[in-house]
Amino acid sequence: MSTLVTNMHHAITGYFQDNAKHWVARLDCGHNQPLIHNPPMSNNAWALTEMGRDDKIGVMLVCTKCIAGMSPDRQFSSMLAKEAA
Ligand SMILES: [Zn+2]
Repeated sequence: MSTLVTNMHHAITGYFQDNAKHWVARLDCGHNQPLIHNPPMSNNAWALTEMGRDDKIGVMLVCTKCIAGMSPDRQFSSMLAKEAA
């Protein structure tokens, strides 16, 4: 019954910073999810510190790109991850 809901949740596997220096989470579905800290709309203050980001590795996020049926961002993210490393 909850299959649809479960499929929308994906674990954070890592992070990278985009060109605007915003942190972006990489999810295990291959999508990227921007972690823009813009309260009160989105409160992602944890993404601004290394400790906060480490703490969220493996946490399940709702992936709006999966819901929308978008193809994975994997190629794009691995390119940027190399840059950030
Ligand atoms: Zn996804």
